[in-house]
Amino acid sequence: MSIENNIKFFADTLRGTGAKLIAVSKTQQVPKLLQAYHAGQRIFGENKVQEMEEKYRQLPKDIEWHMIGHLQTNKVKYIVPFVSLIHSVDSLKLLQEINKQGAKINRQVPCLLQVHIAQEDTKFGFDETELVHLVHHFPPAFTHVQIKGLMGMASLTNNAEQIRMEFRNLRNLYKHLASQPLPLQFEMKELSMGMSSDYTIALQEGSTLVRIGTALFGERDYHQR
Ligand SMILES: *Cc1c(COP(=O)(O)O)cnc(C)c1O
Repeated sequence: MSIENNIKFFADTLRGTGAKLIAVSKTQQVPKLLQAYHAGQRIFGENKVQEMEEKYRQLPKDIEWHMIGHLQTNKVKYIVPFVSLIHSVDSLKLLQEINKQGAKINRQVPCLLQVHIAQEDTKFGFDETELVHLVHHFPPAFTHVQIKGLMGMASLTNNAEQIRMEFRNLRNLYKHLASQPLPLQFEMKELSMGMSSDYTIALQEGSTLVRIGTALFGERDYHQR
């Protein structure tokens, strides 16, 4: 399958679901991103700051760049001017730094709060208790961040029912939060869940943003860069 056909496949798959495709282009070379772009794709996801910056500079300016990987505070300043959505906000300290850099250029930076839903403890994110605490004690001074929703990654397992329950828990948490009065910085409308191996389940459980790499571009080659 070509990248162009894969983009068409996902356009068909997502039609009517209300979910959008994030083309996860980490480690992929610019010509491949351009193939996706020419097939109509306008949202790309990267997990490294420097790589995202380089691609931002080289590619058309109507692309939305989404940061999906763990972000170090000292690198926030490089992406805040152009990033469309940071999916991976996993600490108060990181949120504080995004707010600070947003304030410097007078931009409200769109963010998702990453929630730890998997059984492995290797994945980043707030647990449910921390998240609820953060929402209820959200610093009013954080006027340059916009919280658009939640992001989560399911366990790496073949157990579809476990994956489904993890996504369902996240959706329930999202719905619970979205149904109550929230700080002004919140506009809950996105639920980022699902990757190549589990997007079907994620869509059934209410995902609005699926992050797809391998199923679009093929296997990643970490040796090329
Ligand atoms: C790499 C990555 C993806 C895409 O993974 P695939 O299995 O290649 O679709 C999705 N989300 C995050 C956070 C990633 O780092």
